[in-house]
Amino acid sequence: MQIPIAKPFIGEEEKQAVVQVLSSGQLSQGPKVAEFEKAFAAAHGAKHGVATSNGTTALMASMMAHNIGPGDEVIIPSFSFFATASCVLSVGARPVFADIHPDTFNLSPEAAEAAITPRTKAIMPVHLYGQPADMPAFEAICRRHGLVLLEDAAQAHLARIGDRYVGTWGTASFSFYPTKNMTTTEGGMVLTNDDEIARKLRMIRAQGMNTQYYHEVVGYNFRMTDMAAAVGLVQLGRLPEWTRARIANARYYNDCLTSVKTPVVADGYTHVYHQYTVRVPDGVDRDTVAKRLNERGIGVRIYYPLPIHQQPVFQQMEGYQNVTLPETEKATRQVFSLPVYPALTEEERQYVAQEINAAC
Ligand SMILES: *Cc1c(COP(=O)(O)O)cnc(C)c1O
Repeated sequence: MQIPIAKPFIGEEEKQAVVQVLSSGQLSQGPKVAEFEKAFAAAHGAKHGVATSNGTTALMASMMAHNIGPGDEVIIPSFSFFATASCVLSVGARPVFADIHPDTFNLSPEAAEAAITPRTKAIMPVHLYGQPADMPAFEAICRRHGLVLLEDAAQAHLARIGDRYVGTWGTASFSFYPTKNMTTTEGGMVLTNDDEIARKLRMIRAQGMNTQYYHEVVGYNFRMTDMAAAVGLVQLGRLPEWTRARIANARYYNDCLTSVKTPVVADGYTHVYHQYTVRVPDGVDRDTVAKRLNERGIGVRIYYPLPIHQQPVFQQMEGYQNVTLPETEKATRQVFSLPVYPALTEEERQYVAQEINAAC
């Protein structure tokens, strides 16, 4: 058996939607983008959606919309995809890394609060693997210290705490990269409830213009195409069912896996399992286990093998050589993720569980 880590699905409806856009003559951002923004924001209960070319430009635009720049610090986890940090660097601000909670792998509110300095401008937790970070705690911390709250929600479409979806606490960036829970091919979106931030985001993504050829701020070309938005609209319709399938696969693994630590989900939290990530016990060599599973046809992957603060680019920068984040560093040595995509068959997930139990 060959079971990949992810299996993006593009059906007939997506293909027809793209052909329709191409035939319409609308080749860049147009009515489909506007429709997709409204639908994606509504699905999360957010007031505004601003679509972008990808998740990275969504993050960059959200930094710019909050005037984050040189002299500012942004507190983020180091246990994430690199774009969580590069968007901070892209505006000339300084990423400050805080440690994670070992159960959820998400940024620890206590560690984040301890990292606040007079230069701190914002905190940006990541809803890692699709589980919301402790947003009530981050909201309280940001209110107490007068900080901007941002969300890296690239992996967390439709994740929620109680009835409240991610994307409604702070300015939140999503990604629609092919392997994410839904795709537009490449694409991103920022959600916000703040009218002024939404207005700025719309300018930043389109050359700083509100009125054509009248440039109020320095903006860029971060636009999504109508083709991508048309794919996104169809995928958004499929997302609730896909999310239920991911959760069902996760429950199956929770019940069957005996040799690894399965995900810990906080009470009342809806984890949408962009990744189903387990931890090997102390003393077990994760790389050997992952290699064995790969050889057995199971596409397990390591997210992420090297924390961001230890990446070569940060080690060459001043001030990061002595950063130590024990829980982050331990997690990078112990975790691996397994196939949890919606189309996984009963036979496949049974095979995956059996092989993992045999491998460590
Ligand atoms: C995927 C991802 C991004 C970047 O999104 P792209 O669409 O690939 O640019 C940012 N942050 C996290 C946590 C991600 O998983």
